[in-house]
Amino acid sequence: MAAAFITFEGIDGSGKSTQLRMLASELTARGLEVVTTREPGGTPLGASLRHALLDAEAEVDPLAELLLYAADRAQHVRTLIRPQLAAGRIVISDRYSDATVAYQGAGRGFPVNLINEVVQLATEGLKPDLTLVFDLDVEEGRLRQTRRTTNGANKSDRLDMETDAFHTRVREAYQEIARREPERVRVIDASGSIAETHLRAVQVVELFLAQRGTQHS
Ligand code: ADP
Repeated sequence: MAAAFITFEGIDGSGKSTQLRMLASELTARGLEVVTTREPGGTPLGASLRHALLDAEAEVDPLAELLLYAADRAQHVRTLIRPQLAAGRIVISDRYSDATVAYQGAGRGFPVNLINEVVQLATEGLKPDLTLVFDLDVEEGRLRQTRRTTNGANKSDRLDMETDAFHTRVREAYQEIARREPERVRVIDASGSIAETHLRAVQVVELFLAQRGTQHS
């Protein structure tokens, strides 16, 4: 089985994590070897960084934030993603470098060339083979998250406290990335039910795997 690196992106509350779990079970049920992970926090070091980055009480300078995400990613790429790909597995990550372009670039306003340099440094040039951008209204994303928080499933984090304008810039940045790299990045309408969105995601991934299968055979 050929390895593949798939990333899920989108604003908070767009349903990425839910869809990632569902897609991973679906692919596993079909006999594929799948590893799921996330950024920040895909490694033991990353888990500490995630805590530091998302703690609602913490004050994190934007440059420090950019570099902490980069540190998390370097550890992630070198100790988890590359070894798992080398072992022939399908790695699916909840967020990766497009999140830095969207959040630290468009969201916080760091210049594109600085963002690109930091991304290149942290990833050593490793790009996803396929990226699904779960596209949803900022307001709907907030509603879903509020429901999740009141259910007690999750505490609100530092990013939840950002303005709608911030999250709108992030959403638009993801759409722009998809326009720029249509081969790699597919936008999935995430406004429907969990089941509808799952169907859309499965269709895109099936097509991708089928095309890869053809290329590799
Ligand atoms: P993300 O990882 O993008 O932040 P989650 O998958 O954690 O999003 O979903 C956020 C919340 O919204 C969760 O409580 C989840 O159950 C709920 N949710 C996910 N997808 C949908 C959907 N299509 N419709 C309604 N609620 C959803």
